[in-house]
Amino acid sequence: MRVRFAPSPTGYLHIGGLRTALYNFLLARKHGGTFVLRVEDTDRTRFVEDAEADILSSLTWAGIQFDEGPGLNGGYGPYRQSERSTRYAEVANHLIEHEKAYIAFDSSEEIDALKERLRTPENPSPRYDHETRLSMSNSLTMSSEDVARKVAAGEEYVVRLLVTPGSQIKFTDVIRGEVEFDSATVDDQVLVKSDGLPTYHLANIVDDHDMAITHVIRGEEWLPSTPKHVLLYQAMGWDVPQMAHLPLILSPTGGKLSKRNADKQGIPVSVSQYREAGYEAHALVNFLAMLGWNPGDDREVFSMEELIEAFSLERVGQSGVQFDLQKLEWFNEHWLRSRSDSDIADELETSIQDTFSDVSREHLVEAVALMKDRLSFASDLLEAEYLFRRPSSYDEKSVAKRWKDDSPVVLAAFADSLESVDEWTLDKLEEALQTFVEIHEMGMGKIMFPIRLALSGQPSGPGLYEMMALFGKDETIARFRACNDALA
Ligand code: GLU
Repeated sequence: MRVRFAPSPTGYLHIGGLRTALYNFLLARKHGGTFVLRVEDTDRTRFVEDAEADILSSLTWAGIQFDEGPGLNGGYGPYRQSERSTRYAEVANHLIEHEKAYIAFDSSEEIDALKERLRTPENPSPRYDHETRLSMSNSLTMSSEDVARKVAAGEEYVVRLLVTPGSQIKFTDVIRGEVEFDSATVDDQVLVKSDGLPTYHLANIVDDHDMAITHVIRGEEWLPSTPKHVLLYQAMGWDVPQMAHLPLILSPTGGKLSKRNADKQGIPVSVSQYREAGYEAHALVNFLAMLGWNPGDDREVFSMEELIEAFSLERVGQSGVQFDLQKLEWFNEHWLRSRSDSDIADELETSIQDTFSDVSREHLVEAVALMKDRLSFASDLLEAEYLFRRPSSYDEKSVAKRWKDDSPVVLAAFADSLESVDEWTLDKLEEALQTFVEIHEMGMGKIMFPIRLALSGQPSGPGLYEMMALFGKDETIARFRACNDALA
């Protein structure tokens, strides 16, 4: 099995692209095949300078490694189409020589004018095809001398596929079963543009053939291109690879998840946006794996190894799948919680030091342990400032509501009682508070809020004993006193 991911560097890697790459990768790994990355950069008008770098780094971030591709030659390179032009020209010439393709000189204005002229009620939008090509300026309507003269004079021309009507183009899609197109619905595709560069269709089939690709797995939006590809394979006498078209990713409100549509709903579309927003890479991978595929039971959480083991194209659905940001967040929390405290601490260390300075490694790891179950994103930890420095303000609303006249006295008395606690452990702290409320015959409710407020400035958060243990004796007592001073 040889599969490929063939992005065009016309923009940053889209989540749909990441899903395509992932499914190809999973399949290659499962079957001990080869995963090829091919950069389809023949469209120079839409070329985006840093897109290739973004695609590569996004794949690496997601844990998807390719076996062959730019910088990783496996004997089928080069892997950028802009470096393979000679081969496309060779194939185009072969097609022309074998009367499967022809040269056309029409300018786009001429094409528009001719289409206008050929428009009839039966054919409201004439295309360049078997019905119209004989009224155009091409090598089918001109003498070979005229053609040769025009070419020699440097006139611009394109190469078009000669599509003959009256046949059914059939192929089996692994996901969709038998697919059939009437050849009359396919126009005479441009294969080589006037700048001499191949179009997507030509370059794509030449490379899939030359790179010995066995399975073409791509998004459903490419399904209408497949009959053209099948015709090209047939014209060259090549085998058609196995085809599999993945279901569309739909917006939560229905319709395709286009960039505009997604923006409106606050859904990021490029992988780098998820990365910057602090998503766990594997959460996005796990989420995308389930967006179109299911394991046939109710499991949802899969490590990469488990995905490789369980994945199959047979369990990829045909109908579009709705994007659900909340589900992604659920996966994110899951995968965040499965990481070790010290691993998360490693990730946050620099930003924590930049923001708070002088936070010991031990303190950071403990803070992570304390908060891990409450975080949606690792970086949310930075928002719990009180874990790293004494509160400088106290939540006004809850102070107004729950800070009572006797709160300062209670807090001061508890602070005093803590002075005699020698072993600063969770057990001892719990014991100290229990004893304190018993001696003073006071309900727990009366003291818990002042303690929490003094420790964190917030009305809610992690456990009181855990916070006191994290801050240590001196700092805990200092926070109680500082709170009393501030609210006096
Ligand atoms: N270059 C196409 C893209 O940008 C590749 C489609 C295919 O996989 O054939 O998605």
